[in-house]
Amino acid sequence: MSRVVILGGGESGVGSAVLAKVKGHEVFLSDNGMISQEAKELMEKWEISYEEGRHTRELILNAGEVVKSPGIPDSAPIIGDIREKKIPVISEIEFAGRYDRSKKICITGSNGKTTTTSIIYFLMKNAGLNVGLAGNIGQSYAYQVATQNYDYYVLELSSFQLDGMYDFKADIAVLLNITPDHLDRYNNQMENYIMSKFRITQNMSESDCFIFCADDEISISHLNNIVLKAKQLPFSQEKRVEEGAYLEDKQIKVKYEDREYNMFINELSLQGKHNIYNSMAAAVTGKVLNIRNEVLRQSLTTFQGVEHRLEKVLKVKNVLYINDSKGTNVNSTWYALESMTTPVIWIAGGKDKGNDYSPLFDLVKDKVRAIICLGADNRKLHEVFEGMVDSMYDTSSAEEAVKVAYSIAQPGDTVLLSPACASFDLFKNYEERGRLFKEAVKNL
Ligand code: ADP
Repeated sequence: MSRVVILGGGESGVGSAVLAKVKGHEVFLSDNGMISQEAKELMEKWEISYEEGRHTRELILNAGEVVKSPGIPDSAPIIGDIREKKIPVISEIEFAGRYDRSKKICITGSNGKTTTTSIIYFLMKNAGLNVGLAGNIGQSYAYQVATQNYDYYVLELSSFQLDGMYDFKADIAVLLNITPDHLDRYNNQMENYIMSKFRITQNMSESDCFIFCADDEISISHLNNIVLKAKQLPFSQEKRVEEGAYLEDKQIKVKYEDREYNMFINELSLQGKHNIYNSMAAAVTGKVLNIRNEVLRQSLTTFQGVEHRLEKVLKVKNVLYINDSKGTNVNSTWYALESMTTPVIWIAGGKDKGNDYSPLFDLVKDKVRAIICLGADNRKLHEVFEGMVDSMYDTSSAEEAVKVAYSIAQPGDTVLLSPACASFDLFKNYEERGRLFKEAVKNL
């Protein structure tokens, strides 16, 4: 068995190390940062050797294969050395996929991955299937492959994971949308990012299904230029499709071979145009898997949503507070604002990733009464939105933002935290930002 070196001691790295060990490889894990106590205990239990705070080249460059955590960019010096030695570098998903005989339902896209992955998992569980949930979400895929025995997996895949995938094959692949994000990791080349997303379709055969958004121009134009063996199942809110899903008379209509399923959009537990897309993708997947219509209906009407994604927190003095801390780019915030049905006090800002805010202008003029900036540097928001709304405020903590919102909100308003920016300037991550926002609301 060859020597497998794992780079990165987070969830996916430790999972890969355990799987490599179980499969009889010689394993070494290296992280140039610090490894959590929990991860160390797990590795000690499985007798895996590791290092932290450095990458020792002699222990890494003798690998037969390297499994790289998605967080480590290709530009990291150690990756350059590994490539120079022509050692294959793969992702956790590629590695674990080799040992997994289950049917794999894989979801990618710029926005909506976690939501759609969670809906699909929920409906498969409700259908009584023996299914695991992994990828960018929860416990690592590799660890579960090492320790569980599922018939199906639902996998949320980011482009970083897809980049390290070569022989892996999805049985059902869902591509939700493609909008510019993370372009810094792709030499600022949109084409590279698109190709990365489309890796989800690689190795698929005629008996596999590719589910995609027919309203997404970037997906469609790329799709028109490639040869794909998989059966194509589009979903659309703009036009009728033969097979897949579309919107007609306020109903989602799903068709796959001779199977059909219809449901009114106001029955969906998750509201908003983006969630119609997410629900359509899930419903088509459900029909491909031959899940009964009653189970589909019951699942899509009761799914409770995922934390930090348009999460309703509380109504205080007839003002609804919504936590959409995961709205970390302009596109996701567009959908958040689009789904608002009352005047909005919008809490926005954070670490700007070179945002172009212009797609939001119409919605902001139409719905937003005030903007509360929540970032270390709010100048850009002021430059862009000053004059477009009645008032703007600067705050530097979630608590302060909520207090200002409380003082200016009128009954019937919605206070929406949907920053369109990353959180790293003031918070550890988007989860912390959302949690502090919710705490502040609960303390009002
Ligand atoms: P991801 O896992 O791709 O980051 P999430 O499901 O966590 O996506 O949702 C992140 C944010 O993106 C949500 O808060 C919501 O505002 C927005 N969003 C969700 N689904 C979609 C979609 N299909 N299209 C555009 N934006 C979406």
